[in-house]
Amino acid sequence: MILKADELVDLNRAVIQPVHLPSRPTNISVSVIRIDKIHAIISGNKWFKLKYNLENALLQNKQHIVTFGGAWSNHIVATAYLCKEAGLTCTGYIRGEKPAVFSATLRDAERLNMELRFVPREGYRNKEELIKFAGKDFPGSYIIPEGGQNDFGIRGAMEIWELIPANQFTHIVCAVGTGTTMAGLILNSPHDHQITGIPVLKINPENNDLKTFLSAVCCDHTNYKLFYDYHFGGYAKFNMELIAFMNQLYNESSIPTDIVYTGKLFYAVNDLISKNYYEADSKIVLIHSGGLQGNRSLPPSTLGY
Ligand SMILES: *Cc1c(COP(=O)(O)O)cnc(C)c1O
Repeated sequence: MILKADELVDLNRAVIQPVHLPSRPTNISVSVIRIDKIHAIISGNKWFKLKYNLENALLQNKQHIVTFGGAWSNHIVATAYLCKEAGLTCTGYIRGEKPAVFSATLRDAERLNMELRFVPREGYRNKEELIKFAGKDFPGSYIIPEGGQNDFGIRGAMEIWELIPANQFTHIVCAVGTGTTMAGLILNSPHDHQITGIPVLKINPENNDLKTFLSAVCCDHTNYKLFYDYHFGGYAKFNMELIAFMNQLYNESSIPTDIVYTGKLFYAVNDLISKNYYEADSKIVLIHSGGLQGNRSLPPSTLGY
């Protein structure tokens, strides 16, 4: 690999720190692993999901990378940054019509030389079709699915375990978009760990792509559970209760979170604890998966950080 992993990100910065939740659990310990701190731009899980994709693209001598995402996608900016570092050109297919005013995320991606192409929402709903369509636009390019959801993404996410001490925790909790990170955590976990996933999108709990994906990839692993009630109305939706929670968390634990992913993650854990979901003596570690991008969509001073 031309790009040396340890020259780009600093894994030593992924410290584990205590979390002070408003529910004030007494017989349950709650910590967070700050993988958000490994890099300012390719922060958190995005580095893990992209590293083997990039390595593979370089091994295949690809010059151009194509990927997909939304207007506030941490994945889009992370990919744009990595391509620039690796000397590759890239295109991001962005969900929705071209906006009159670009989001801060899209401006960042453009500044990092990513070419942006906008796809109306109807066209975007079918991911396979869009991948085919992009492949025709850019023959010979390396295509990374949205959110890095492929075997390379999962393989990278499995390495998050290298940062988590083996015998210190009973439960791992992560925010879930595509489920790629969660799949890596499940696949590589010692079997007595329970993995809790908090989907941030509004999806049908009975029947959804995420469940299908996880059961296909994780086959005989059953040490995981998804909680579908913490999406706050859908992807990037929020209310003032969530904002107040995030401000309190920051004030009491110095942990910045975002409205799209990790705010909902911490909120969910606090709520599950107050509803006694976790048994006494559980030792929970949350994965701070990075990316505060989405917060830039908020009016200034909504958050105290
Ligand atoms: C992208 C992202 C996720 C979702 O990860 P998946 O592997 O797609 O489930 C979670 N947290 C943050 C901060 C993210 O940027």
